[in-house]
Amino acid sequence: MTDDTTLETEATELLCTLIRNACVNDGTPASGHEERNADALEAYFAGSGLSCERYAAGPGRVSLITRIAGTDAKAPTLLLMGHTDVVPVNPSGWERDPFGGEVVDGIVWGRGATDMLNITSTMAVATRRLARSGFRPRGSLIYLAVADEEAGGTYGASFLTAEQYDAVKADYVITESGGVPIPARSGIKLPVTVGEKGVNWRRLVVRGTPGHGSMPFRTDNALVTAAEVVRRVATYQPRARILEEWRRYVAELELAPELEAALTDPDRVLEAAEHLEPLGFARLAHACTHTTFSPNVVQGGSKINVIPDRVTVDVDVRALPGVSPLDVDAMLREALGDLASRVEIEAPRGQEGSRTSLDTPLADAMRRVTQALVPGSKIIPRLTGGGTDARYFRWKGVPAYGFALHSQRIPYTEYPLMFHGNNERVDTESLRLSAVMWEALCRDFLG
Ligand SMILES: [Zn+2]
Repeated sequence: MTDDTTLETEATELLCTLIRNACVNDGTPASGHEERNADALEAYFAGSGLSCERYAAGPGRVSLITRIAGTDAKAPTLLLMGHTDVVPVNPSGWERDPFGGEVVDGIVWGRGATDMLNITSTMAVATRRLARSGFRPRGSLIYLAVADEEAGGTYGASFLTAEQYDAVKADYVITESGGVPIPARSGIKLPVTVGEKGVNWRRLVVRGTPGHGSMPFRTDNALVTAAEVVRRVATYQPRARILEEWRRYVAELELAPELEAALTDPDRVLEAAEHLEPLGFARLAHACTHTTFSPNVVQGGSKINVIPDRVTVDVDVRALPGVSPLDVDAMLREALGDLASRVEIEAPRGQEGSRTSLDTPLADAMRRVTQALVPGSKIIPRLTGGGTDARYFRWKGVPAYGFALHSQRIPYTEYPLMFHGNNERVDTESLRLSAVMWEALCRDFLG
């Protein structure tokens, strides 16, 4: 077997193990059980000369760190960070056992195959390979298998950056997600996630006056008011903002000039997105240029013959970088209009977005390494609407990217459907490419 084939086999086996461990995080403190994947990774590193540190933020909520110390204290430290938890599944929607870790025709199936146990495993494979080769870099390499990303990092990245910062302190961070090739006329484009929106969750509490359901005329029904609240929030569109990252991303796609102009014009992007295909790209175009409001949960009413006096509507708001939690509340009041005085806004989570420049020495190294592995390719900046652990580092001013390297076997248009979706899977060639890329990047950048 060639070296690269060995890497592919190792990464595949490790990924299957991590999938089978089913570290399902449903958002409750007692879920996750990331200790199982920490154990698997520690066993995988055994005998390579790497020693592991464990950090538990709660029972079973274990994050694992191993490191290759650099020889030059002035050289940069790179942190490779992969989360070890996954989101729950609905098995009835799957063609295969979501926790079986099956490999069929070069495709690994299972929850976490793309989010993000694939990257967690390929980062581990490269780290072990480097250690076994006697790699003595100038800069330090830290590998972090982190718990609780899927519920916001309370027992993982948030805990580590707040309570154990010395353990994870680095000059650069790479985590999920990116590197799924987009074919363009001039060659392959490899997106690097450089920023994400701020997660802002709001609960709108709508009040009314209770009464008898048999006589609804001229009553003050909280549910009827809430229906109008939902309608206003769902149709509300704050003015578009064009961030430089979005402008660069669109330019790199090499679209028709008129479409590119429309998608980067705050006055025209919404209308352009209305007719854009495929639908996934339309949603991305909207999300990357707007703070978005999605009313997703409603609770209220007690009995069929009682007019309800309290209804709550939970709205998932994703704020563009630069839009503060206070701005979000102002937008909600604008959306509510004359109903604003009848609605109380509670804020269970209000976070700023985060951004990192792609003009850094690490990005230069990523550019060199990917161009060697995928001739004619180019890394390009990308924004994401979802949240990742990268934000905890960006908020501290540490450049943090989302990246990996994928083959073209699974088209880039499929990936958005697999994150938290059914039939999550990855091809083993992508595992090989990523493992090779991490190793080459560490040698280039830390060397
Ligand atoms: Zn993830």
